[in-house]
Amino acid sequence: MRVLLIAPTPPACHWPQGVFFYSVVPTELAHCAALLGQHGHHVRLEQREISLLRESFDWTKADARFEALLRKFSPELVVFFAPTATADEAFRLAGITRSVLGASANILLCGPHATALPEQTLADCPSLDAVMIGEWEWTLLEAANNGLTPGITGLRCATVSQKGWVPRPACTDLDSLPMPAWDLCDMDYITNRHRWLIRWLPLRTINLRTSRGCPNACSFCAAPLTAGAGVRFHSVEYVTEMLARALQNYPVEAVLFEDETFAADEARLRRLCETIQTRGWHRRLQWACCLRTDQACPDLLRTMKAAGCIQVEYGFETASNTLLQAIGKNTTVEQNLAAARHTREAGLRVYANIMFGLPGETALDMRNTLNFIRAIRPEVISASAMAPFPGTALFRDLSEAQKKRLQWGAYTYLDQFRSGFNPTAMSDAQWRSKYLQVQKHFIKPLILRQILRDAGNDSSAVIQYWRKRWRRFCHRHPLKAWRLPV
Ligand code: SF4
Repeated sequence: MRVLLIAPTPPACHWPQGVFFYSVVPTELAHCAALLGQHGHHVRLEQREISLLRESFDWTKADARFEALLRKFSPELVVFFAPTATADEAFRLAGITRSVLGASANILLCGPHATALPEQTLADCPSLDAVMIGEWEWTLLEAANNGLTPGITGLRCATVSQKGWVPRPACTDLDSLPMPAWDLCDMDYITNRHRWLIRWLPLRTINLRTSRGCPNACSFCAAPLTAGAGVRFHSVEYVTEMLARALQNYPVEAVLFEDETFAADEARLRRLCETIQTRGWHRRLQWACCLRTDQACPDLLRTMKAAGCIQVEYGFETASNTLLQAIGKNTTVEQNLAAARHTREAGLRVYANIMFGLPGETALDMRNTLNFIRAIRPEVISASAMAPFPGTALFRDLSEAQKKRLQWGAYTYLDQFRSGFNPTAMSDAQWRSKYLQVQKHFIKPLILRQILRDAGNDSSAVIQYWRKRWRRFCHRHPLKAWRLPV
């Protein structure tokens, strides 16, 4: 069967020219493509962001290119992998697919959004034939082998009169997945030297996943939705093979391990570090990963550093223990401070994830968080406004009226604030002004220019505020402004 797997972007109204000029291997799609290929299916993988870049973000031309691909490849099964921010665009592309291919193809959607809201997703997009819920690779394989039959676990068909659906248990043996089909991705583009994947370091980087899931369940996080509770791992041998293939086939200088919690199994991580050193890869390969702060012990961090690790990402979120408890983070500010200190002492860069707009947050909490950031001096900061992702405890607590006001496209990183969602203890006006005040500490000039470039003629108060900051930056640092990469 001919299968087209698609990774959409957010819609043009929220992502007119893309904000981050980098691209990653769509890991789930690449593994699934390999699995389908292993069973004799003919697979193609379409990364819309790369198509848009090729067309200089001319969305009309990119759509024409997409239609041409559909006509030429004529897939019998079209699958969209769509997190919430890209759901609306996936719906639009599903409409184009239906108009080009008619009834000759079945169109499916999978990912955290469909998992959280299967019925609503089918209602929102009449072009869909089915959604896949939870972990979907084996569901899709069954659908490709046998056609869309309601008995397939994890599949919710739109057309068949079906009462509910049977959930598919998460795969316990991740090594049964074949190596990702990198040959179907644009690896020249993905492994190009750029400064975004391991933030601000111009490295040829590839992203790899070595486990699925997280031991925690924070009230705002959609990560455990598709992966389920707990963590499952690829074996060290599997990860070593994946690394060896990446190094053999591509000019890779760095790896971003995209696991939610890389040290969920400390013994396994130590064995992986040992293997990297035994093979001598630590001399030519730098890598970055994400840990929970309660996993950051000094000895482990030193071992990681010796094996080539250069950066550790943490979800510090806030400097308030009350708020950390309220969002179910199961860490404390003291743990967070110690993790940052140990990481720096081990000679590693600190990547700090900060979340503002937490339920019950006050202006004082925000100020304390700023002071916390000043104290830990991270090399990279990602500060965003909390958004209620479908399937999370935060989303479940919303009223029906609040849910109706949500726009999926506004879940894009920089647009989260504009969604109007305000669970803080501040009034809307105070929250907006405080958030803009703190954002000026995090938004680098390059991002600022991209926000304004994408804003076009938008004359909202927020954009006017950013325009003023950009003018001030140009006035004070004309050379820096001129030298910013386009
Ligand atoms: S935010 Fe991090 S620790 Fe919390 S559930 Fe998500 S991945 Fe796990």
